[in-house]
Amino acid sequence: MPVQPDHATPPSASVLLERTTMLADEAATAAFGERFARALEAVRGEQRTSGHAFKGLQVQLIGDLGAGKTTLVRATLRALGHTGRVRSPTYTLVEPYTVELPGKGPDRELAVYHFDLYRFNDPAEWADAGFREYFDSGAVCLVEWPQRAGTVLGVPDLVFSLEVEGEGRRLTALAYSESGKACLERC
Ligand code: ADP
Ligand code: MG
Repeated sequence: MPVQPDHATPPSASVLLERTTMLADEAATAAFGERFARALEAVRGEQRTSGHAFKGLQVQLIGDLGAGKTTLVRATLRALGHTGRVRSPTYTLVEPYTVELPGKGPDRELAVYHFDLYRFNDPAEWADAGFREYFDSGAVCLVEWPQRAGTVLGVPDLVFSLEVEGEGRRLTALAYSESGKACLERC
């Protein structure tokens, strides 16, 4: 039997950009989160100045328990200006955040949803829980354990895969959309 890819992305989706980065320690993960946050802000700003609404971004985080998925989400949220706690949404499935980006006006607010679908096992629950709307709302959705959702997530903009390597982590990033690619190019 062919080996199934360890993620939820349909096999028909094509990768526009792939990057591998060694994250030697947690500080390196924090620095990557910082670059990713700046990239998100820039891409969102560009889409808006070109007269489009920001379409949001779906980022899937793949990796075993302890690989560093939540650490990366935490680093990204902090770099986006969130100062409170970032708890792992293992039981709640999702934690919502609103961050204020630099600039003026009401457009400064950005919604960020942090999903952990480890305990998600009923795709029918997806619509009932109202999760679909989060992905169509111009928000940034950071999704741990996307494999658990089966095909309901569709094609993500980005996939970050984390693997333990020595004392650190190897991050393999795949972009599946132009927005994802534009972000990854800045990381
Ligand atoms: P996950 O969400 O993937 O289950 P966590 O982020 O909760 O993993 O935990 C990852 C663990 O690995 C934490 O103890 C964190 O301190 C550590 N860690 C995170 N990033 C790195 C890194 N780049 N190098 C070494 N250790 C890391
Ligand atoms: Mg986690």
